[in-house]
Amino acid sequence: MKFKPANNIQDLQYFGEFGGVNPSISDSSTYTFLSAKTMFDTFEGNADGCYLYSRHSTPSNLYLGEALAAMEGTETATVCASGMGAITPVLMQLCGAGDHVVSSRTIYGGTYAFLKNFAPRFNIQASFVDITNLEVVEAAITPNTTVLYCESVSNPLLEVANISGLAKIAKKHNITLVVDNTFSPLSISPSLLGADVVIHSLTKFINGSSDTVGGVVCGTQEFINNLRNINNGACMLLGSTMDSLRAASILKNLRTLHIRIQQHSNNASFLAEKFQGLGLKTVYPGLPSHPSYKLYKAMMNKKYGFGGMLTIDVGSLDKANTLMELMQEKNLGYLAVSLGFYKTLFSAPGSSTSSEIPEEEQAAMGLSNGLIRFSIGLDADIERTYSMMKACMIKVGVLNTK
Ligand SMILES: *Cc1c(COP(=O)(O)O)cnc(C)c1O
Repeated sequence: MKFKPANNIQDLQYFGEFGGVNPSISDSSTYTFLSAKTMFDTFEGNADGCYLYSRHSTPSNLYLGEALAAMEGTETATVCASGMGAITPVLMQLCGAGDHVVSSRTIYGGTYAFLKNFAPRFNIQASFVDITNLEVVEAAITPNTTVLYCESVSNPLLEVANISGLAKIAKKHNITLVVDNTFSPLSISPSLLGADVVIHSLTKFINGSSDTVGGVVCGTQEFINNLRNINNGACMLLGSTMDSLRAASILKNLRTLHIRIQQHSNNASFLAEKFQGLGLKTVYPGLPSHPSYKLYKAMMNKKYGFGGMLTIDVGSLDKANTLMELMQEKNLGYLAVSLGFYKTLFSAPGSSTSSEIPEEEQAAMGLSNGLIRFSIGLDADIERTYSMMKACMIKVGVLNTK
């Protein structure tokens, strides 16, 4: 049977306490108990369905977590205050002093900075590897490795991880495969391909309105319980809890994710083909010229396309900056970091979101100065967008036309 992530979200039915079509928002930090005994049992983790304190769990957060678990096909999930607020507790839960992480070298700048600069303070070491080369990945594993970490589609280079291949390696070495699926919700379902833990920054496509930060960890009931454990759970103790009001608003936005992702993908795919046709160095996983086009095609839930992210290389940072400023002036999008907005967003990752990565390492991984990362918006008339973008490119001398 085919996996239908959007159906799984739609099929969940929650009513508000007065029959509202949306669940009621839990507007409390703490909860009463009818008996002292139940309070004690709840502390011990033995009173199912009882709430204790909102840093641990809230009804609104559980609704959103359940919907995201349904989307990812995992047993359950826990929502967090941000994407980083999901990633760092997962790594701290899975690693102790002396442990080692094998990570893709092309990952979100914040995750890279955490593994490179912060985790060593706890004697947690990381090796950064080319995730598309399974032999290199396996060779980097040591007896101390506990986690294999990657993004399904990497930021910002749009490398595609072979999740089934990585899962085999993880299983063989008895380590946990953690996949950040922020760039490809609905399109790729890492858990079905063998990932143990799936993370999202909800800030991006899933919420989609650039009005909040948020994160989620999807996994087994056992792992999520561990994260929320009152005595030694990293989510509970580090405290990156989502607020119930936000959980409720993200759940409402999640309802339209399937439509938005289709439109992001259609628009990005249209522009990627056109840009490539103009002779621009274009990277988009849906182009047959992408080194992992076939792999992505084999992994994806077809309906949702290859996602809304693409990059072009315009040769130099100066040109990239001039082009982005002009496109913003023409209202074709915003010069801003982040992704998944209705409006196109563009930035030069080398000097912004990936600036945590030292220049030599950027060069080694192919992150060049003239790279522009686009999160393509929901534009109703993408042909008009294209012709206006092309005019900007001609004006700033990015395109050589007669
Ligand atoms: C934005 C992002 C994060 C971090 O999420 P925040 O919500 O900003 O904390 C992690 N991974 C990827 C791939 C991202 O794009």
